[in-house]
Amino acid sequence: MTFDFCPRCAAQLYDQMLGGLSRRACRAQGCGFVHWDNPAPVVAALVEYRGNLLLARNHAWPEKTFGLITGFLERDEAPEQAVVREVSEEVNLVATQSTLIGVYPFQRKHEVIIAYHVVADGEIVLNEELAEYRLIAPEKLHAWDYGTGLAVRDWLVARA
Ligand SMILES: [Zn+2]
Repeated sequence: MTFDFCPRCAAQLYDQMLGGLSRRACRAQGCGFVHWDNPAPVVAALVEYRGNLLLARNHAWPEKTFGLITGFLERDEAPEQAVVREVSEEVNLVATQSTLIGVYPFQRKHEVIIAYHVVADGEIVLNEELAEYRLIAPEKLHAWDYGTGLAVRDWLVARA
């Protein structure tokens, strides 16, 4: 995302080399605003529910496209808290155990994915973001080669 005007003083922003990259920066005297444009951290949960893995389809996604439970960290929230909260909010499950799988770049969405394996239980109820879910036996789970799929790949490799 690029900005044309400074959110602090409303002056025009210019491209400027800072820290080795071109950034939108404010030249107004005494302002000093720089849009660093760092990627946003996102938590992802590979949810294990009664021995199967839960994949869900967002309403915005095409048919037959399923993924992990994901969400943005809230201000002041630790990633391990965020992933438990997202699992609760999106599929109504209570996490009993969560383990970091790994951290993955996702340049296309300008995000960094912090992925956990989350064992959870309760009654599955999807929130309004999700259209449907599938429960997949671990031996039938296949990874995909971008985004959260890299976490699925690593989890499957570690499990084997
Ligand atoms: Zn400014």
